[in-house]
Amino acid sequence: MQQNYQDAMAMVRKFGRPDLFVTFTCNPSWSEILNAMQGRERPKNRPDIVVRVFKMKLSELLDDLIKRKVFGCVTSYIYVIEFQKRGLPHCHILLTLDSSSKIRTKDDIDKFVSAELPNINVNRRLFEIVTKCMVHGPCGIINPNAPCMKDGECSKQFPKAFREETEENVNGYPVYKRRCIEPVRVGKHYIDNRWIVPYNPWLSKKYNAHINVEVCTSVKSVKYLYKYVYKGHDTASITLKNDASVNHDEILNFLDGRYVSAPEAMWHLSEFSMSDKSHTVIRLAVHLPEQQAIFLKEGQENEAVERASIKDTTLTAWFKLNLIDE
Ligand SMILES: [Zn+2]
Repeated sequence: MQQNYQDAMAMVRKFGRPDLFVTFTCNPSWSEILNAMQGRERPKNRPDIVVRVFKMKLSELLDDLIKRKVFGCVTSYIYVIEFQKRGLPHCHILLTLDSSSKIRTKDDIDKFVSAELPNINVNRRLFEIVTKCMVHGPCGIINPNAPCMKDGECSKQFPKAFREETEENVNGYPVYKRRCIEPVRVGKHYIDNRWIVPYNPWLSKKYNAHINVEVCTSVKSVKYLYKYVYKGHDTASITLKNDASVNHDEILNFLDGRYVSAPEAMWHLSEFSMSDKSHTVIRLAVHLPEQQAIFLKEGQENEAVERASIKDTTLTAWFKLNLIDE
């Protein structure tokens, strides 16, 4: 994990901080999944189909972002797959844009990111997708047991405040426009623009899924984002018991186990990668002069030293390249 984070920071050093943070979540109600169900099957019975469809949609999304340049020219990207507790996959993507595509003004932000309900009369389909996929909660007083609630408050600070205009940079994050509207009934609750998770209308409409799009405005956000991307997999506390002999060893009672859901297992069995990035980062074997590690068989010390003296390590080869290549 730490190594991956350092690799990501090496890319930030070269290409600058990411401009966009996109979270793409699998929607088990996609028609491609539902149409593949046989008889009484539900998506939860077919993790194989769920992850394959997600993988195909993710490839298409990455093509949209990187090849078809939905947000402009991407100079570098990195993404990591995660599995939620109930098992569905999602993907965190960080995009760095080239200087001509940088998101600078509030008009740029408004062009790509919306945190408001679309007008139902103008765009009914988008309205349905946003009310289904992009409404946070409900949490707070209506639902104090929501998973986002920490010490009586929403850890993601919902509901947000109403705001007439987008502001580019408030403590490292943009604050999106959320105009005051008549509340709209969604399920059991009435919601308004304070509850909308920021999204890109074009992507939401195309993919019919939870796709959170956030603009990163300062370097401050980088560390948080990368930490989030590399926070590690879920664990569960488990107990193994042998009926014949009850063991009261307290340490054994709290084995730290790794929790793998069926879709996650299917993802690994299909050999889909858990992360990818636009560039290769090579970790050099750092050592002091004449102190590189040498591997040898007993009795062949001299040959091993001789062999090592004419062979480059990744570090010495890098020094040599720097001598001749500007
Ligand atoms: Zn909340």
